[in-house]
Amino acid sequence: MAIPAAEQTRCNDMIGIFGGTFDPVHFGHLRPALEVLERMALDQIRFIPARQPPHRDQPLASAEHRLAMLKLALADQPGFVMDDRELRRSGPSYMIDTLHSLREDYGVDRPFCLILGLDAFSGLESWHRWQEILDATHIVIAQRPLADQRVGLSPGLQALLDQRRVRQLSELETRPAGHLYQVEVTQLAISATAIRDYCRQDKSCRFLLPDTVYEYIQRSGLYKF
Ligand code: ATP
Repeated sequence: MAIPAAEQTRCNDMIGIFGGTFDPVHFGHLRPALEVLERMALDQIRFIPARQPPHRDQPLASAEHRLAMLKLALADQPGFVMDDRELRRSGPSYMIDTLHSLREDYGVDRPFCLILGLDAFSGLESWHRWQEILDATHIVIAQRPLADQRVGLSPGLQALLDQRRVRQLSELETRPAGHLYQVEVTQLAISATAIRDYCRQDKSCRFLLPDTVYEYIQRSGLYKF
């Protein structure tokens, strides 16, 4: 899949949205997010941990632990913002509800971009009320390593990509929602699953995530069992 060359246009009003389980947060989340923040010159990226992810196994670490680790990871990075709205909501953490809640806070005209790895984008059709997502936000597809090369899009999503993809950042700024945009990010083949496995096997997960998060995991004995 061809990805347009990087541009240096500013999207300085645009809010990036990065949802995930963050069980735990790691450099595979943080580095691509930073590159998207800088390349698109976003105003901010809001990291939104899911209380109850609808499409996968439930997190091993509690919401409180995941929040604490995310706070440590985001602490020193301007533009990275912790957003705990899904943790404050009961029931499954549907992205469409989160987007509507963000719209209540920021209004209907503010451009939003939901940042997804290609693997996450390829599963979009299984999301709750997925057809409404692009009414509420743009989607930025950040190329994820290794898995990406194996991920094929369904004919429906490929058609959506063909219809809605824009190649110029300036086109994203003209509307608050509705477009798809691809960004190539540094490829870090890190997953939270692998980190949890290392911990369970009593192997070190150091250098896969920020030292502060590593130390938190050590202190709290997370992922040992
Ligand atoms: P797990 O291994 O438990 O499934 P994960 O490492 O994939 O977790 P999530 O919190 O589920 O992390 O991911 C949140 C978002 O971050 C998703 O959009 C996912 O595609 C993206 N992401 C996760 N790891 C990477 C990575 N190494 N590079 C780029 N994007 C990533």
